[in-house]
Amino acid sequence: MSAIASNLQAVRARIAKAAADAGRSPTEVELLAVSKTWPVSCVLAAADAGQRAFGENYVHEGVDKARATFARALAWHFIGPLQSNKTRPVAEHFAWVHSLERLKVAERLSAQRPADLPPLQVCVQVNVSGEASKSGCAPDETLALCRAVADLPHLRLRGLMAIPEPADDLAAQRAPFRRLREIYETVRAGGLPLDTLSMGMSHDLEAAVAEGATIVRIGTAIFGERNHA
Ligand SMILES: *Cc1c(COP(=O)(O)O)cnc(C)c1O
Repeated sequence: MSAIASNLQAVRARIAKAAADAGRSPTEVELLAVSKTWPVSCVLAAADAGQRAFGENYVHEGVDKARATFARALAWHFIGPLQSNKTRPVAEHFAWVHSLERLKVAERLSAQRPADLPPLQVCVQVNVSGEASKSGCAPDETLALCRAVADLPHLRLRGLMAIPEPADDLAAQRAPFRRLREIYETVRAGGLPLDTLSMGMSHDLEAAVAEGATIVRIGTAIFGERNHA
């Protein structure tokens, strides 16, 4: 078995244990393999081990990999910062965007989504770390942004995403994920049918699953340390 295949197996086991500990079914948590900085050969090794969904942070790198693996019918998720002048290739090549934080970017993605593709699945990124983070919309602006995004014809609003500041112990890791889940419940109570909480990375997936993550975004634990980039 390749190293990537055995790492994937270990990550799936971590997700299953975290879900069981939380009284959840492991099928409620989707694994997104974050392949940024890794070559197409690594994506294909993961795909051969059954992995279908891949996350990328950089537009050109992600588009290149989506094109190179087109015949494998993988699902590409854009998870990095997105400037409004780079939306077109994302609208054309990705199935999901997790990192929506401004209405202008959402409007461009909707306008540029090709008519022969299904709607682009999107999550609004929320800043749950306050001053420590510059990414994501403010918690108290999330409902208004979600309402506006939900009205765009070629996007389908699925949920919320966050990247909290790293923390060492489980309780400190869980607090910002709980905060995101509370914002998610507020948006749902506002009438928007969200079903996705994109939260948790290699070092904190257990905390995220305990707080209700439905997608965990895992790079290092699958592909190794990104010390080559
Ligand atoms: C790189 C990245 C990940 C994966 O992080 P690991 O610690 O390598 O698992 C997840 N989400 C986002 C937004 C990232 O940029």
